[in-house]
Amino acid sequence: MRPPMKPLKSLDEALAELLGHATPLEGAGTVSTFDADGRVLAQDCTSVLHVPPLDNSFMDGYAVRCADVAAAGVELPVSQRIAAGSAGEPLQPGTAARIFTGAPVPAGADAVLMQEDCEVLEDGRVRIHAVPRPGQWIRRAGEDITRGAVVLQAGTRLTPAELGLAASIGMHQLQVARRPRVALFSTGDELVMPGDVPPQQMRPGAIYNSNRFFLRAMLLRLGCEVADFGIVPDRRDATIEALRAASSGHDLILTSGGVSVGEEDHIKPAVQALGTLDLWQIAMKPGKPFAYGQIPRENGSAHFMGLPGNPVSSFLTFALLVRPFVLRLQGVRDAAPQSMAVRADFTWPKADRRREFLRVRHNAMGGLDLFGHQGSGVLTSVAWGDGVVDNPAGQTIAPGDTVRFIAFSELLS
Ligand code: AMP
Ligand code: MG
Repeated sequence: MRPPMKPLKSLDEALAELLGHATPLEGAGTVSTFDADGRVLAQDCTSVLHVPPLDNSFMDGYAVRCADVAAAGVELPVSQRIAAGSAGEPLQPGTAARIFTGAPVPAGADAVLMQEDCEVLEDGRVRIHAVPRPGQWIRRAGEDITRGAVVLQAGTRLTPAELGLAASIGMHQLQVARRPRVALFSTGDELVMPGDVPPQQMRPGAIYNSNRFFLRAMLLRLGCEVADFGIVPDRRDATIEALRAASSGHDLILTSGGVSVGEEDHIKPAVQALGTLDLWQIAMKPGKPFAYGQIPRENGSAHFMGLPGNPVSSFLTFALLVRPFVLRLQGVRDAAPQSMAVRADFTWPKADRRREFLRVRHNAMGGLDLFGHQGSGVLTSVAWGDGVVDNPAGQTIAPGDTVRFIAFSELLS
């Protein structure tokens, strides 16, 4: 009789354990704010000024004292002209100031009238056809950012809007986390690099290495430097040699394939020969054979992550486990993808013992359609879908059920 199987580690437990190993990398550096998109801030950014710095006009028009415009039809002389970039004089009572968008509102004025509500008379005075509300069309000093505010926190992954925000408080350079150095290789005697052999000349049993392309692209999107160690044959000695070479100078070794239980799967024993295997097999579908370990090198050790070879398994284990890990290495605090409640417009009649990730796509009715072939080798399902349903173990799905949806935009950026 076979001994009872140990229950597999849950995805949440595995992720918590991985993040526990992901000590943020040392060696932050300075980059131009122009070049900081996608990088992770290694400093708090505190504003030493108000943004905007002064009360200023929202409109092209006239700045007035409301007390001078008690009724529509009032006519006022124009005492000054204030364009953006200049500072005017205090507004003399009983006059209006010609003002333009972004120009500071002069002291004494308490409202701006848009020029569409004003009529310039022959003699240069202005007739005002509306009664202003106090504060109207004035952008207040500090309404975006107040002096002393922490505008961006260390650990923030910068996006275009945040570059603009940093620039708005005068920061032309930013301290960012060092890029993780990742060594990538694929295992499998069947693998051929596209370009090395044309499709008509592929030997029987050979397939193209597709994982390398999306894994490399996803790593680059996450701010990593990627060193490509090519394809490693299905031999123990070659696998050990490749892991040893890849550990030097890299923070993380990422492999695909060879991590299951077959005789041709050499990753696990090779990692154990060189270092430690801390985690292997997770209760998720696809993606069960995922592995994590550490391999000693000159100074300290390199993290090791082994992804299953099947392309969809590789893709999803990357998205759900490697992605948060490499973000944490850069100091990101919360890298968990957001899921949302969406209506399923499909049937999933057979529950699985593992938590499943089903490739789906939004339809025009706001519900989700299921890709017809959920096989872990069918990469088309990922290209077709716009996300996955995160389906709990033991759960069937009927049309109309509410399911948890994770968008690929959450997993790929
Ligand atoms: P393995 O995890 O090595 O047992 O591989 C599982 C399946 O994924 C096999 O059908 C392999 O041929 C396929 N596979 C492994 N690596 C790759 C790769 N880099 N690109 C495409 N398919 C792969
Ligand atoms: Mg293999």
